[in-house]
Amino acid sequence: MKICFATNNKNKIREVKAALGKEIEILSLEEIGCKEELPETGDTLEHNAFQKAQYVKEHFNVECFADDTGLEVDALEGEPGVYSGRYAGEPRSDERNIDLLLKKLENSSIRKARFKTVIALLIGDDKYKFEGVAEGEILKERTGTGGFGYDPIFRPTGFSKSFAELSLEKKNEISHRGKAVRALIDFLNQV
Ligand code: IMP
Repeated sequence: MKICFATNNKNKIREVKAALGKEIEILSLEEIGCKEELPETGDTLEHNAFQKAQYVKEHFNVECFADDTGLEVDALEGEPGVYSGRYAGEPRSDERNIDLLLKKLENSSIRKARFKTVIALLIGDDKYKFEGVAEGEILKERTGTGGFGYDPIFRPTGFSKSFAELSLEKKNEISHRGKAVRALIDFLNQV
């Protein structure tokens, strides 16, 4: 089965390919000829995930799924949440996003946070949603060089390392996206 993962993020493609079995072939946006940035104008992860998947289905006529992820920080009442990608404004920058978050939490001892991923799947005329959550805390400084996004400052609960210090396999095992992708795979294996 061939299915497009509607993202331009090579790290996400790598993570999802590592989690999927050989029976499902993932096509990136580049591979289906989509070069434009996908619209994501909603104020929920679910809205954005379906909006991106819908755009690809309409314009490229392929089966596809899209994800949207947000980092919810308790001390910031759930910020940056759905706005995680553009937290420090345009153009998107992981470095500036992390700097801003660390600055906002400078004087806070409450470090609890969680990543949430919503995956929207469009197959035929049907729509499905899969979710995954990873609990953890925000570190005081960057640690590790792997992963992407906020990984260097996120330590998952039960681990002494940040996401950026874990192997791809370990991150997939416990991460928000890994969990959502496994729910997607379980579903795809039944259809
Ligand atoms: P989006 O799902 O691409 O919109 O991601 C929103 C923001 O969260 C971006 O800043 C991403 O870099 C970040 N992000 C998404 N997934 C992860 C992850 O697994 N680890 C760390 N940051 C992530």
